[in-house]
Amino acid sequence: MSILVTGGAGFIGSHLCRALLAQGEDVIVIDDLSTGTYDNLAELEDSKRLRLIVDNVNNAALVDECVREASAVYHLASAVGVRLIIDQPVRTIESIVGGTESVLKACARYRRPFLLTSTSEVYGKGSKVPFSENDDTVMGATSTRRWSYACAKALDEFLALAHWVESKLPVIVVRLFNTVGPRQTGQYGMVVPGFVKQALNGQPITVYGDGQQSRCFAHVQDIIEALLQLMLCPKARGQVINIGNNQEITILALAERVKKLTGSSSPIVKIPYDQAYGEGFDDMRRRVPDLSKVHNLIGYQPKRDLDQIIRDVIESQKQ
Ligand code: UDP
Repeated sequence: MSILVTGGAGFIGSHLCRALLAQGEDVIVIDDLSTGTYDNLAELEDSKRLRLIVDNVNNAALVDECVREASAVYHLASAVGVRLIIDQPVRTIESIVGGTESVLKACARYRRPFLLTSTSEVYGKGSKVPFSENDDTVMGATSTRRWSYACAKALDEFLALAHWVESKLPVIVVRLFNTVGPRQTGQYGMVVPGFVKQALNGQPITVYGDGQQSRCFAHVQDIIEALLQLMLCPKARGQVINIGNNQEITILALAERVKKLTGSSSPIVKIPYDQAYGEGFDDMRRRVPDLSKVHNLIGYQPKRDLDQIIRDVIESQKQ
């Protein structure tokens, strides 16, 4: 039987497909190529063990057929990136909520293990750091578009957990913190590929706000290893689990690091949030994962540090 990866042509999805194929699995991908690209999978399609279906996960009949053929489902299809979420809020909400509903219905019908990639955005504006899975979510106003993403993803989590509670469908909810690596595009606002691109092109490196907001960046390869192990971990079923890296850095320090590692002479400039995202944008000051749960479940520990992450992104963009 195959493994189904929705969103398999995306940045994280394509790394997951590569790893599954390397383990000898056959893979079916459903991806509408909205934010994912064919190029991410081009070389894998040649292997004949990967079947790409270009369609949307809201197509319930197609999803039903693919889930029936699959032994397990990784559900990654989702709108991504703060920029896209702000620019296209209807598409964001519909693709997240509708897509997950259709995939979960089919998984429930055929009793297939289901892994949802949710997001650290779900913690919202929580100020208790680090973020642990049972912490409260703190959302902003519904008039602030950014929060539609967090709320839609939170609803996905509720729905997945509801299937576990009602029928013991094996579901695993993973909250990904900022994930970075080769082939990620800066097009949807993600900061690391964006900074690297600016630095390599000699353009100003644009730090939004005062640059004292911080994030923790994980290498996509660490994330993939964790996803593969969690799918096989019986104790992970019915659980919400953070994955990421807990090495924290301010965005200003990140800009300096990127500048140094690229050897760029780009200036670092500060841009007010309103100018970057439009009026009324809410950013998160700090976002750090508590990784004790995933460590206890599968012994997870991030292996790749920030310098390696930045170097891999530089290498990938140079290619
Ligand atoms: N950011 C920045 N300059 C950019 C893009 C992003 O300063 O060109 C900041 C952004 O405001 C946020 C952080 O970098 O504070 C991380 O942004 P990203 O969109 O990558 O992820 P987020 O953690 O906000 O989802």
